[in-house]
Amino acid sequence: MKLDIDTQDWGQSEMEISGDLRLELGEGCPQTVQVQGSLTVDNLENRFHLKGSVKATGDIPCGRCLETFTFVWKAPVEIIILRNIDRGEDQGDTVVLHQSKGLVDLSEAVTECVSLAFPLTTICREDCQGLCQTCGIDRNKQSCECKEEDIDPRWAALDNL
Ligand SMILES: [Zn+2]
Ligand SMILES: [Zn+2]
Repeated sequence: MKLDIDTQDWGQSEMEISGDLRLELGEGCPQTVQVQGSLTVDNLENRFHLKGSVKATGDIPCGRCLETFTFVWKAPVEIIILRNIDRGEDQGDTVVLHQSKGLVDLSEAVTECVSLAFPLTTICREDCQGLCQTCGIDRNKQSCECKEEDIDPRWAALDNL
């Protein structure tokens, strides 16, 4: 995941990126992800603007049933590489790298973009039944006798008075 800013074509070109990245997002998030995507590179001599998106694939536990599954998410990627170290630039979510020549390693910047795009809740499938709150069995695989009603029938009876 490197861009050689010395040999990069002038103007606009496409660049494929792929590889494995390590994430440090903590529990419930994948440790390593496979990343694949493409970026448009704008070479303006002292400034390189990289923009595109990547697909990240990693194994995580489902937020409802805790079963491990392969989760795929898309992450927008925007990176600016500046040859001039003096000029600071604040670009919000855009990662700004400073390097005057040679190969620029993009993996850390892409890791940042992929981490930012990781959703707060991840479930193995839309209709995942999750675990029973009472006995803890996986309700995708088994059913149990536990009552699911939140409303205590005694109170429901009072409501009807
Ligand atoms: Zn699930
Ligand atoms: Zn149960």
